[in-house]
Amino acid sequence: MTYDTNNIFAKILRGEIPAISVYEDDATLAFMDVMPQSPVHTLVIPKSPAENLFELDLEAGKQVLRTAQIVARAVQDAFKADGIMLNQFNGPAAGQTVFHFHVHIVPRYENVPLRRHTGDMENPDVLEEQAEKIRAAHAKL
Ligand code: 5GP
Repeated sequence: MTYDTNNIFAKILRGEIPAISVYEDDATLAFMDVMPQSPVHTLVIPKSPAENLFELDLEAGKQVLRTAQIVARAVQDAFKADGIMLNQFNGPAAGQTVFHFHVHIVPRYENVPLRRHTGDMENPDVLEEQAEKIRAAHAKL
């Protein structure tokens, strides 16, 4: 499959559709997932195009992992999760629905089950409030 430049995350990177950003640098963007599987579910994407793990440039992969660590630390500091899960899906059979490489950062709490993948939309005000806490935690770490 060739990279579709009109996938949702490519549109977010071009500023054509909004996203609630929590962290950005030259190579990566992290933002709130609009259909969280657990409260404070974020996504990290490389700015360079890659549909999946197989297409991912390793330098971009390193930058994505670096950003995932930065965001996970801030989420952990702000929300005191019992654990933090990273997910990454390749291909529809594995659950991939947006065809621009991304890593999910999903806080987990003891005995709290995950919500359905791409299930219910979260209230944007709630997402913005959570994002602000992540940004503030990052700023002080
Ligand atoms: P995948 O299924 O490809 O691993 O993950 C795609 C993720 O993107 C899902 O968790 C889904 O909730 C999220 N998502 C889908 N559309 C949008 C959108 O327009 N904005 C944001 N912020 N997240 C989205």
